[in-house]
Amino acid sequence: MLFLGLLIIFGFYFFGQTNSSTQVITWQQLEEKYLQKGQVESIEIINKKIANVYLKDSVNKADEKDTGIFDQGLNNPDYQYTLGSVETFEDKVQKAEAEYNLSPVNVSYVYRTNWLENLLPWLLPIFLIVLFFYFMRKRAQQSMGGGNNIFSIGKSKAKIYDETNKPSVRFKDIAGLDEAKTEVQEVVHYLRDTRKYEAVGAKIPKGMLLVGPPGTGKTMMAKAVAGEANVPFLSMSGSDFVEMFVGVGASRVRNLFKQAKEKAPCIIFIDEIDAIGRSRGKAKSMQSNDEQENTLNQLLQALDGFETNSGVIVMAATNRRDVLDKALLRPGRFDREIYLDLPNLEERKAIFKVHLDTINVKNDIEVNILAAQTAGFAGANIANICNEAALMAARNERDYVINSSCELKG
Ligand code: ADP
Repeated sequence: MLFLGLLIIFGFYFFGQTNSSTQVITWQQLEEKYLQKGQVESIEIINKKIANVYLKDSVNKADEKDTGIFDQGLNNPDYQYTLGSVETFEDKVQKAEAEYNLSPVNVSYVYRTNWLENLLPWLLPIFLIVLFFYFMRKRAQQSMGGGNNIFSIGKSKAKIYDETNKPSVRFKDIAGLDEAKTEVQEVVHYLRDTRKYEAVGAKIPKGMLLVGPPGTGKTMMAKAVAGEANVPFLSMSGSDFVEMFVGVGASRVRNLFKQAKEKAPCIIFIDEIDAIGRSRGKAKSMQSNDEQENTLNQLLQALDGFETNSGVIVMAATNRRDVLDKALLRPGRFDREIYLDLPNLEERKAIFKVHLDTINVKNDIEVNILAAQTAGFAGANIANICNEAALMAARNERDYVINSSCELKG
């Protein structure tokens, strides 16, 4: 819109200045063709710069001048002449008059102010400033994750899995981890039928902390709880709360819990909670870490704030339980801790089975051997191995995975 407006203004400016059908003439031509013959009716000098020459009506102009359809009937000059200086022009005219014995030519002076010409020096800087702010705002919005306006920065960036986008993970997809499954079963049971617990007066834990090395299925477990209980799942990473602006983290926490309350019963999942849950007052360097503390304080308050039986369960995952603030772990907040350890031999077998199930394999793959060879691997590593094998098979133009020792033998 802005550009269009500007284009129109410039269009008017340029086309309004010169008349399309007015021809430019030189002094020689003017003198020889018309002045000598006394055919000039009048000359109009505009702003001491341009002379508009009007010929007498008796002169046959039709063949010499191309009259545009728009100019018919208008009192347009016949010729235009650009002046060097007014004085010399006057001298020239007077000389010509004396030389050819002409009756004096009617010379008039007109001052035309062009409003646009006056306005432009004002308008242009304003326009540039507006443009500058416009682009700044756009850039700022982009860096804030494409919100509609600056106020959306405090909104939580939680990924929501609800009716339209249900978490598809179930307990059967998680191999092993039987103890952890049993512990979270209670939450599933509660979420499925909150009233039963309320009737007895039982208080369900508000927060559950899933602790374990990376890739042991913490996210998966939280998703499975939501999937099994058939409730919405709001997932956010601890680092999503962190922004370069002060107060944004706290505002995002508030927004997240508000969103959750609207969707209750539901599960909030905060991955890598150590990004915001680090012990307060232990700033690593000289710089103060106020923003992280604010966010943590808000989180603590939000955990206290909602009723035990409001139907919102907060699950958080971390592999650095030791750095978490004590206040976060006290009863009433994250009072349940579930440890997900690296899988043992039997569990690795089960995880291999789950992941080999989804890809085409030849039956010479021995899960027992694979599990024995992968001591210390987490579930994520095993999932990765299976996927790598499938990628390799596709690369080698096979549509199934085989035992690599067979391949080496040829
Ligand atoms: P974490 O959150 O603990 O870092 P994830 O839950 O994101 O780990 O797990 C990453 C991937 O590892 C999962 O998507 C899944 O494919 C695989 N995985 C981990 N543990 C298991 C398990 N017990 N059974 C099946 N797959 C698993």
